Amino acid sequence: MSLTIGVLAIQGDVHENITSTKAALKELGVEGTVVGVKTADDISKLDGLIIPGGESTTIGQLSLVNSSLKIIKEKIEHGIPVLGICAGMIMLSKTANDRVVGKTDQPLLDLLDIKLERNSFGRQKESFEADISMNSINIPKFNGVFIRAPSVSDVGSGVEVLAKFNEKIVAVKKGNIIGVAFHPELTEDISLHKYFINLVKKLKN
Ligand code: GLN
Repeated sequence: MSLTIGVLAIQGDVHENITSTKAALKELGVEGTVVGVKTADDISKLDGLIIPGGESTTIGQLSLVNSSLKIIKEKIEHGIPVLGICAGMIMLSKTANDRVVGKTDQPLLDLLDIKLERNSFGRQKESFEADISMNSINIPKFNGVFIRAPSVSDVGSGVEVLAKFNEKIVAVKKGNIIGVAFHPELTEDISLHKYFINLVKKLKN
C-alpha cells in the first residue's frame, strides 16, 4: 500500500510541508508520495491533504478562481484526512473574523464547525514560539511557531480541543479533520506530520 499525500500548492508554506511530510513517511517506514496539488484532477487522487499556512484570503480567492475549492470540499466531505495549518485552519473553518478589521467575507470551506479570530496574537512582528501540549494525540510537548496566528473563539459540537495557549484554543480535531494555529513545518519536530500520516494510513487500510 502506498499513500498519496498532497500539499495544497496555491500559496504559503508548500515546500516546507512537503519536506516535513517526506521526512515523516521515511521515519515511519511508510511508503508514499508527497505532491504539491493545485488542480481538481490532482486533488481527486489524494489519500490525505495538507492545507499549509500562508495567507487565507489569497488561498481562498485563488482556489475559488481555479475551481479547486469545490473539489477540496467534496474530497474532505468524503472523508479524506486533512491537516489545516494556520491559514489552512482558517480555510477549514465556518466563520473567520479578523481581530482588527472584523468580517472579511473571504471564501472558506466551512468543514470544521469552529469560529476563528484571525491574527489573534498580533501581526507579523509579534510572532513567537511557545511550548504546546497535545496530550490526547500523544504529543505532550511541541514547539509551536506562531506567525500572525489565529485562535479558535468557539467550537461546535463534536470538535475536540487538542491544545490551548494562554487560554486561547490553538489546535482542534473533528474526525479526520485537524486544525492547528501554529506551524509544525517550521520546526525539526515531525511528530504532528507523523500523526497525520498514521491517520491517513489507518483510513486507507
Ligand atoms: N494571518 C494569516 C491569515 O489570516 C494566517 C497566517 C499564517 O498562516 N501564518 O490568513
